[in-house]
Amino acid sequence: MTPDRPLPPGSVVGIVGGGQLGRMTAIAAAKLGYRCHVLDPDARAPAAEVAASATTAPYEDLDAARNFAASVDVATFEFENVPLETLAAVGESAPVRPSVEALRVSQDRAVEKAFVNGLGIATAEWAEIRSADDLEAAAARIGLPAILKTARFGYDGKGQTRIDGLRDLAQALRTAGEARTVLEGAVAFEREISVTVARGLEGETAAYVPVENLHRDGILRVTTAPAAIADPLADEAVGIARRLAAGLDLFGLLTVEMFVTLAGDVLVNEIAPRPHNSGHWTVDACAISQFEQLVRAVTGLPLGDPARHSDAVMTNLIGEDANAWADVAAEPGACLHLYGKAETRPGRKMGHVTRLTPVREPAAAA
Ligand code: ATP
Ligand code: MG
Repeated sequence: MTPDRPLPPGSVVGIVGGGQLGRMTAIAAAKLGYRCHVLDPDARAPAAEVAASATTAPYEDLDAARNFAASVDVATFEFENVPLETLAAVGESAPVRPSVEALRVSQDRAVEKAFVNGLGIATAEWAEIRSADDLEAAAARIGLPAILKTARFGYDGKGQTRIDGLRDLAQALRTAGEARTVLEGAVAFEREISVTVARGLEGETAAYVPVENLHRDGILRVTTAPAAIADPLADEAVGIARRLAAGLDLFGLLTVEMFVTLAGDVLVNEIAPRPHNSGHWTVDACAISQFEQLVRAVTGLPLGDPARHSDAVMTNLIGEDANAWADVAAEPGACLHLYGKAETRPGRKMGHVTRLTPVREPAAAA
């Protein structure tokens, strides 16, 4: 399925999922002369508005997925909660990149953590939980405080319950309300960082500099690029991202979220084989954004240079934050992005703003 040469301009890139990540991918693809076809259940999905074509169908509709696949030259996804069967159905007639396997690993926290540990890369201590007995035993082994997370369908901190004392165990399990959960030790981290790496069809990689992420209420609030960490730590983080991308043998993007502990150790929190919110700064601060890098990787174009021309602070506009759009637009040097979502809801990512500080000498790629 690997083409000998890049897909020519005019080829169709299919995007499963029509949120803001798909929207920005479609814009980057259009810049390179590709056409995008979006598959999403919502006719007004943010990506559908900017794509050449869209299929509106539930993700569970395998016939729709097959028809979608028949009309694209390559398919990618921007959303991890797509059913595996749907992506496999797409894969019957179009190459799926990063890969169906990358989705399988990343959409289940237990599978994901086992995969990461299997490569010899550290995570917080964790255990898969299927019963109250499992939870009690895991809490005793891992210790408290700990966090109980649903194994699947988590995002923006949803599906997570913090457990501070033994008396909270039963309630946490009820709150999760899922057959399978994962208990992980609460990490007293110094900071959270992430690395976005692209991997091309020949296995070549290009990594953006590690960035620092600040969350509020479980939702990413601010990303600062670069992270204020020493070079050896940055090298270690980038190395981890590269090993995970190679370990998954994916073609596309991988973002690795990590904790830096008070002792200076790096623990992987989670991985995402798609564009990532903590990579949005690259749109304005790098010649080649994470979205263009994804398009390049999946179409077989050479990867671009991930060096940045500016340092950046990216702030998400969450819920009502986006009402300040006119002020942000008037602010000198602020790069405003709005996702075209019709309805503002608390906790919903409506857009982001990136503020730049040019670097004097273009910083070397990591
Ligand atoms: P997203 O998809 O938005 O990244 P998510 O719902 O998949 O989020 P996580 O990344 O697992 O969830 O957790 C969200 C945030 O909650 C983390 O970035 C971190 O701030 C905090 N958190 C999660 N797990 C732990 C942990 N084990 N110890 C300390 N903090 C944690
Ligand atoms: Mg996360």
